[in-house]
Amino acid sequence: MNTVKVNLHCPHCGKRFDLELEENANEDDLIEECPLCGSPIDIRLVLSPDGKVAGAEIQRGDGVEDD
Ligand SMILES: [Zn+2]
Repeated sequence: MNTVKVNLHCPHCGKRFDLELEENANEDDLIEECPLCGSPIDIRLVLSPDGKVAGAEIQRGDGVEDD
């Protein structure tokens, strides 16, 4: 299984970190903890038409929407 590394921006502590994801992800929505501050981050995978991970968008994982 190949993995793809995406660079994410934590909405809680504001720092950037790399996260490795499976290239053929079955779910397009997952929760990961920020490795820096430990806060939950709601990650929505951006998939290319062939089902591979093209990138990721983040939302706060605590149900509060950023605007
Ligand atoms: Zn963080």
